[in-house]
Amino acid sequence: ARSVGLHDVLASGESLLVPDVSAAMLTASASDAEQFGIIQALELASYGLVPLVIRERTLGVLTFATTGQRQAYSQQNLPLFQAIAQRVAFAIENARLYAEAQQAIAIRDQFFSIASHELKTPTTSILGYAQLLERRLLRTSEPDQRLQTPLQAIMQQTHRLNRLVLAMLDLSRVQTGQLRLTWGSVDVGSLLERVAQEARLSTDRHTITVSAAEEPVIIAGDDLRLEQVLYNLVQNAIKYSPQGGPISLALTLEPASVSIAITDRGIGIPTAELSGLFQRFYRATNAAATTVSGLGLGLYIVHDIVSRHGGTISVDSTEGIGSTFTIQLPRRAPGVRN
Ligand code: ADP
Repeated sequence: ARSVGLHDVLASGESLLVPDVSAAMLTASASDAEQFGIIQALELASYGLVPLVIRERTLGVLTFATTGQRQAYSQQNLPLFQAIAQRVAFAIENARLYAEAQQAIAIRDQFFSIASHELKTPTTSILGYAQLLERRLLRTSEPDQRLQTPLQAIMQQTHRLNRLVLAMLDLSRVQTGQLRLTWGSVDVGSLLERVAQEARLSTDRHTITVSAAEEPVIIAGDDLRLEQVLYNLVQNAIKYSPQGGPISLALTLEPASVSIAITDRGIGIPTAELSGLFQRFYRATNAAATTVSGLGLGLYIVHDIVSRHGGTISVDSTEGIGSTFTIQLPRRAPGVRN
């Protein structure tokens, strides 16, 4: 009499072959009782048990069996069984690792989302109080320069922090598909003027010009989100032309769409790197080599917002010469007819 063997295989990691079940006079220990029942119920004639081993861990046992008149398995079949078991073990391990990676990504995204939400409240509060202090200071008859300069530094850095936090928040919204648009009518010409006006405040080295149609151009879209898109592209144009120079915002009309091109004469982008630009955390090598800091999130979010409008974004650039980012937006909301 011999034991069914399932637990022996699990424990030893050695394969086992029973070429003739009827001659083997199987007995089952309590732990193998179920297996014993199956062998009897299926009237197995022969079977082989091979451990599924990966990195010295036994994940389980693969059973090969014959019934009835089929030729019984012999020791010669074992190498094939073991090769199959090896593949099965790899597949199981891969699936496990994949699930683990997915779970880690989910935890990371969740952390990112919570962290950016939690950072937003204190940042907004610091900014508010700094602005309050600045107003009070400026109202005094002789504002103290020793207070004004550090206060401005606090404001500037908090604004920067705020922008980073907002980008992180948007990233987690994009990743979870929760960045929603509030549809309305957008006057593209005045939007361009507004963005240019604000950008001029942040630089005295660049000349920012807008060329738009005389008549108002109204499209369907989310005013605030489109402002964010343009603001981002113009800020990039400023950031990546540290020597200064002209930056132009040009609006062109097509029958069913409008296109807006933002052109700078900055550091440009190496041709080989253009295709990766809209991926998150992507920064071109020539940008990373400068002192210009960035997370590489802006264009990823811009791309998402433009796509949600049913539009496209493209880039044309020559390293050392300058770049043009062009967004094309349909005049009507996608899915809306007439
Ligand atoms: P960030 O500016 O924070 O790095 P973005 O997502 O806005 O992130 O941009 C991604 C990358 O695209 C930048 O790091 C830079 O390499 C490149 N880039 C974007 N705009 C310009 C531009 N106007 N001129 C040159 N490179 C640019």
